[in-house]
Amino acid sequence: MEEGAAGPQGEAGLWPGVGAGLLLWTAAAVLLPVLLTCWCSVRRARREEALRRGRGLGPGSRHSLGLGSGHTWLYTDLFPRPTYCSLCGQAALLGSSCLSCGLCVHEACQARAQRRLRCKESVQAPGGGPGGWEGGLGAPGGGLGAPGGWEGAPGGGPGGWEGGLGAPGGGLGAPGGGLGAPGGWEGAPGLQADPGPLPPAPGLQPHHWVRGNLPICNSCAACGLQCGSQPRLCDCRCCWCQRVAHDGCLSLLPTACDLGPLRRAIIPPRYLYTAIRQRASPASQLSSICPENWCPILVLANARSGNNMAQSLMGEFRSILNPVQVVDLGCSTPLKALQLCTLLPSHAVRVLVCGGDGTVGWVLDAIDEMKYKGQDQYIPHVAILPLGTGNDLSNTLGWGPGYTGDVTAEAILQKVLDGDPMKLDRWRVRVTKGFYSFHGPKIFSMNNYFSIGPDALMALNFHECREQSPFLFSNRIINKAVYFFYGTRDCLIQACKDLDQKIELELDGERISLPKLEGIIVLNIAYWGGGCRLWEGTGDISPPPASHNDGLLEVVGVYGSFHCAQIHVKLANPVRLGQAHTVRLILKNSAMPMQVDGEPWVQGPCTVVITQKTQALMISPPGEQLDDDVSLATQPDT
Ligand SMILES: [Zn+2]
Ligand SMILES: [Zn+2]
Ligand SMILES: [Zn+2]
Ligand SMILES: [Zn+2]
Repeated sequence: MEEGAAGPQGEAGLWPGVGAGLLLWTAAAVLLPVLLTCWCSVRRARREEALRRGRGLGPGSRHSLGLGSGHTWLYTDLFPRPTYCSLCGQAALLGSSCLSCGLCVHEACQARAQRRLRCKESVQAPGGGPGGWEGGLGAPGGGLGAPGGWEGAPGGGPGGWEGGLGAPGGGLGAPGGGLGAPGGWEGAPGLQADPGPLPPAPGLQPHHWVRGNLPICNSCAACGLQCGSQPRLCDCRCCWCQRVAHDGCLSLLPTACDLGPLRRAIIPPRYLYTAIRQRASPASQLSSICPENWCPILVLANARSGNNMAQSLMGEFRSILNPVQVVDLGCSTPLKALQLCTLLPSHAVRVLVCGGDGTVGWVLDAIDEMKYKGQDQYIPHVAILPLGTGNDLSNTLGWGPGYTGDVTAEAILQKVLDGDPMKLDRWRVRVTKGFYSFHGPKIFSMNNYFSIGPDALMALNFHECREQSPFLFSNRIINKAVYFFYGTRDCLIQACKDLDQKIELELDGERISLPKLEGIIVLNIAYWGGGCRLWEGTGDISPPPASHNDGLLEVVGVYGSFHCAQIHVKLANPVRLGQAHTVRLILKNSAMPMQVDGEPWVQGPCTVVITQKTQALMISPPGEQLDDDVSLATQPDT
């Protein structure tokens, strides 16, 4: 008995001494980071909410196309390099930067900067002055009674001068200067009484200078020496042409801004002003404002795809292009965004879709809708920047299996400008239940592939798992691992056994006798399942040529999940069942998993008919020899 009692007593004696301290430390080590994280996320959410309200993104925005004039602030906990506040001129470690014009401000200065400093304007009236000066310190337009700012919005009238000549700080464009900015003029030596450059000739656009925080590698457009090397807010960058210049060299530069090397891709703000006002008779009066060989690019991005890469890319595109050319599909629909095309010359616009194949399909559906609305002449060409997980379509068109951040935004835009037009077949998948159906057929658009069997089952399991725990799927590699797990699991279960007895297949009206199969895949494009060239396969027998614009679908069969895996690693070929203009599948009396372009579901007895819907206008990167493109392959003969 004594021994038994001694045991627990000894343990109890151990606990109060060591245990309490240990418990306290453990609690502190676990709880403190958790509490800190929660506090930070609450603060961030509040700040983003405040920004959204400030930016006027809510209802009552200024224009249906989203032509707001406010800054697009992005808060950062630590600026990546030495930064000075554009409003007060003091050094800033943390704060907000504008994605469009590149202003950087303290959190405390943000509200004043929003009111006083002009952002890169989407729309500008012609006949403006020498351009606004951003940056509070020593802006020559500011306190000296030099030409003030000018309101560039359509509401500003054709003259565009809000404050008029000699009205100090009158317009929106010259807010800074001496107006309450500590340090003011004294801090900028060599700038006294400089009236600033003269206005450019009427009809030309002035530069929009933003002071300080210049890119690290730069050289002055006037004298060729490095700018912005002093540790203060000094020297300027034009947020349209991206030229930089010393404060003292500004007067040596031409006053008109040519929009820089990517001017072919940019919509000049004056163009939009005129286009909106003279919607009835565009082409003739607008041609003088358009750059030569103009090919404006509209960027449609899904900010949630690709590990937040889309968000930073959108910022870079906004800083190069007119902000109105970059649309987040999280805030707007593609159809709404594409209405900008109706203000631009017909057949000139190129759309760059940043996202996975699903986003591309969404945009192509919206373009088809434009056709139904009778806006045929405004239909743009589509290029792809592959973010996200499924990028088989982008791979087929030559844009690669996934963007890794190794190419600059400028280089991407140049590629889109230089790319070659091509066509892509789009298909309609009509699923009719039994012989009679009260609900009418289900109709899908298809760009990539339709499948029934193990491939669709894998997609279905993956889809369900993602619905249940979305936090697991923020990473491309984890996505692939989960997909692989379901693939191997299905090998053991064989859920789609004896498909050949449950299904009838007709290619162009001709019944095909099926071998013992578990799955059928109908392909429009060369790549399938994340980078596998399915129709081509391996081995020495070369199949009939296939293309994504020949009006033909390729139909293949697979023996099961294990066979799928073997095809992936090039150890086996699929069963090639044939090519056809119309594919008809009859599922007789059981339920099977199906998918169209990665969208899976379980389908009972039904008839599936796949026919051609339209041809989409796409762009492939310059110099890309697509081996499966019939139109390119036959061109040299003619
Ligand atoms: Zn500040
Ligand atoms: Zn801005
Ligand atoms: Zn410029
Ligand atoms: Zn210089």
